[in-house]
Amino acid sequence: DHLVNQIAAGEVVERPASALKEMLENSLDAGATRIAVDLAQGGIKLIRVSDNGSGIAAEDLPLALDRHATSKIASLDDLECVVTLGFRGEGLASIASVSRLTLTSRPVGSEHGHQIVAIDGTLHPVEPAPHAQGTTVEVVDLYFNTPARRKFLKSEATEYAHCATTFERIALAHPQVEFILRHNGKVVWRLPAQALADRVAALLGRDFADNALAVETSAGTLVLTGFAGHPTASRGNRDTQYFYVNGRFVRDKTAQHALRQAYRDVLHHERHPAYALFLTMDPAQVDVNVHPTKIEVRFRESQAIHQFLFHSVHKTLAGTQA
Ligand code: ADP
Ligand code: MG
Repeated sequence: DHLVNQIAAGEVVERPASALKEMLENSLDAGATRIAVDLAQGGIKLIRVSDNGSGIAAEDLPLALDRHATSKIASLDDLECVVTLGFRGEGLASIASVSRLTLTSRPVGSEHGHQIVAIDGTLHPVEPAPHAQGTTVEVVDLYFNTPARRKFLKSEATEYAHCATTFERIALAHPQVEFILRHNGKVVWRLPAQALADRVAALLGRDFADNALAVETSAGTLVLTGFAGHPTASRGNRDTQYFYVNGRFVRDKTAQHALRQAYRDVLHHERHPAYALFLTMDPAQVDVNVHPTKIEVRFRESQAIHQFLFHSVHKTLAGTQA
């Protein structure tokens, strides 16, 4: 139902950056190793994401735009152990309800591509269209049909900044994937497939990377990897705090507190630590379903997580103080 989709869209697609996030996550879920993003006018005019992932069969194209159609979970029980980034099946349907969306794809093993266009939530018939293996989703004129929402969008520069942040957060967590970001035709990022350390250096800067300490700890099923800024480096601010749970960027109070405390304990004074840390854990022990934009998580055992993060980073930092 169109209205339901538009209302849901308000939740899922707050702004161009949220649409971009859904689209990038779909490309990653499809196993893409190369993803190109084109934005125009801060993403308000155009968001195009092209990937070389597994693609979508012609007959499944309408399904991909159907609300609650997801190819990623078969039952509610599966929600317990979600490993893919998307699973609600509402991303594309929501975006399609508030934009002019074109989905073009050619699945592995298929000779030709196909395309479906959705305008104002109405699906047009599937047509043949040339495409390399993979998928391109093109979102034009976000919120053209919901002026009240469109008014809430900020300037192109601000919306672009949000898109760039979203792109960078995702690119940091997938160094093995090649990414390109263009805005208004200009290349902003060209990131080859590379080692994490090189991706960190590209995105967070040489300053951070050259002094950062590698973190690699585990306890039971908890594993923490990544880089913690050198305790005496001054570069840290809220923007250089990258924390991921099972591959998703999250802002989490428990994690922020544990990490700040580890730094304070070593340095004996307050400072914004800089870090790019990746926590992997049993998906059943973390609820990623707390908000449609999925930036927050809820840990079943938050005390244990706090302790693990604190000790992991503390140990790493303390090693430099001797
Ligand atoms: P979800 O990701 O939660 O399953 P979406 O609405 O984001 O829901 O996508 C719906 C479906 O469309 C996905 O389950 C997937 O089958 C298909 N799809 C979307 N984008 C891509 C892509 N880039 N490559 C392959 N399949 C895709
Ligand atoms: Mg999705």
